[in-house]
Amino acid sequence: MGRKAPAPPPPPADSFERLIHELEKLPGVGRRSAERMAYHLLEQSREEALALALAIRDVKSKLRPCSVCGNLTEAEQCAFCADPRRDDAAICVVEWPREIRAVEKSGQFRGRYHVLMGRLSPLAGVGPEDLRIAALLQRAHAAELQEVVLATSPTLEGDATAAYLTEKLHAEAPKVKITRLARGVPTGSDLSFAQSGAIGDAFKGRTEMR
Ligand SMILES: [Zn+2]
Repeated sequence: MGRKAPAPPPPPADSFERLIHELEKLPGVGRRSAERMAYHLLEQSREEALALALAIRDVKSKLRPCSVCGNLTEAEQCAFCADPRRDDAAICVVEWPREIRAVEKSGQFRGRYHVLMGRLSPLAGVGPEDLRIAALLQRAHAAELQEVVLATSPTLEGDATAAYLTEKLHAEAPKVKITRLARGVPTGSDLSFAQSGAIGDAFKGRTEMR
């Protein structure tokens, strides 16, 4: 149902080899770990092993983008958009849903979020129309909004994305202050891998974009 055929080359026909092949695609998993996991699953009871398969199926079928910010949620709106105690005066823009968790852990932000679903990358063919930029510009018109915090990654592409968004937001909502996280987060890393203390410092030291 809704499943597309995998791109070539096809996975191995043997089911055990296919499992290893799929596990090996996970981040940080090499061939040896994939084999260990596959044997482990094989030795588990049918119920235990299938619990993993069902959990994967559920996140893929139940989670969908929040209608407001693009975060992943099982409801129409995610917990951050639906929470009346969050501050409508600020929106923090991140590249991916996982980065919201990282910002939350820092404890420095109580506003709303907006997920771009990536960053501008001419080399990878990702242009402005591929990101959730139009939806952000629309949200920038909200009367309560005072600040947009750009928390794109500290990489060349993240910087280029922040510069592009600044120009667009200035044109769209001149009264809204645009800020960028300070360089507390190691360059080249994505926010979700940074220490929450570093993200907290980056928030406190954020600077205005002009
Ligand atoms: Zn949301």
